[in-house]
Amino acid sequence: MLMTKSTGNAYDVALENFDTAADAMGLDKDTREMIKYPERILMVTVPVRMDDGQIHRFEGYRVQHSQVRGPAKGGIRFHPQVTLDEVKALATWMTWKCAVVNIPFGGAKGGITCDPKHMSKGELERMTRRYTSAILPLIGPEQDIPAPDVYTNSQTMAWIMDTYSMTKGYPIPGVVTGKPISLGGSLGRNEATGRGVFYTIQCACEHLKIPLKGATVAVQGFGNAGSITAQLLHEAGAKVIAVSDSTGCIYNRNGLNIPELIHMKTLVGHVEGFPESEPLEPADLLALNCDILVPAALENTVHAENAATVRARIVAEAANGPLTPAADRILEAKGIFVIPDILCNAGGVTVSYFEWVQDEQHLFWEAQDIYDRLERVMKTAFRDVLKIHLDRNVSMRIAANILGIGRVAEAVQIRGIYP
Ligand code: GLU
Repeated sequence: MLMTKSTGNAYDVALENFDTAADAMGLDKDTREMIKYPERILMVTVPVRMDDGQIHRFEGYRVQHSQVRGPAKGGIRFHPQVTLDEVKALATWMTWKCAVVNIPFGGAKGGITCDPKHMSKGELERMTRRYTSAILPLIGPEQDIPAPDVYTNSQTMAWIMDTYSMTKGYPIPGVVTGKPISLGGSLGRNEATGRGVFYTIQCACEHLKIPLKGATVAVQGFGNAGSITAQLLHEAGAKVIAVSDSTGCIYNRNGLNIPELIHMKTLVGHVEGFPESEPLEPADLLALNCDILVPAALENTVHAENAATVRARIVAEAANGPLTPAADRILEAKGIFVIPDILCNAGGVTVSYFEWVQDEQHLFWEAQDIYDRLERVMKTAFRDVLKIHLDRNVSMRIAANILGIGRVAEAVQIRGIYP
């Protein structure tokens, strides 16, 4: 199954990528000690009365990796494979991600080890509210602002906002982003990750002189990020020839009808069986002869054992951490252009920032305004990363980390150490 990641430890990957970039930029030991590790870790027990009347105990986490440049920021994941190390890795990446797009946030992440696909809406609501209550001391609009991630959505955020607000005694929409519009959410937030991925793919195609119109694309993972990226690429005239999700994989050499595929996925919950497509082994999707590969599922899906099969010219990391360092080295040796996660998928948190600003100001912006600002932020970040990549002759991942880590390092050096 595709939404299952390989056994590699994402936190080891996060630490290794940090060290590689820190070495490349000659970062001093004291600064490394200050910024490398999570600042706060909270593990919580989440007891929930299930629909059958029994109480089930879930484990939850909230990790604040950094508050150096601003309040901690990052999503909450509901997935059977959530572990503390995974949440630590994802929180670490949020810190560098926010710095790469230069928004005034640090990094955080939360998660509950659970199987949301086999829980009722009532069970999910009770679990979300109890978890919110358990992490309440850490979160707040000026401290730490959760958002959606894998298998959480605007409804989850509404429950968190309500639980937090009821406890405090007044409405506090700025405690989460990715909310429904009717609760102070932002236009364009739901599509923001995919839209940001799309802008960075546009930049990469321009840089490599690959026309986007007619380019062939394979998308691994068809959740929020994967489906919106596919939709925007389809609208731009690219041919999405293969798509996979946690249950299967489909292929059509002439291009899949993405709007219809999204419609079917919304109705039946999976992509398998889509008309005018043939089934494909999920492992074969990675090896397709295509221009752009978009890993949009979980961590470590491209690793030492399968990276050599990748034939795409561009790999756009819509997911967090889909490539292991070993995979990175193999793709680099093959001359494949990787748009690293902390740049590629930063559109989500960027529009989260816009949402938070709008909530704080009680003044809401128009959709076109959001798209224009997002495009500017993403394309500026791409240009900045590309410049480091070319000037220093380092991979795009190292370049993005040099930019992000460098900004956090600068902030921590100016702040100094307390006491
Ligand atoms: N979960 C998303 C990410 O990994 C968005 C986080 C946010 O908006 O705070 O970037």
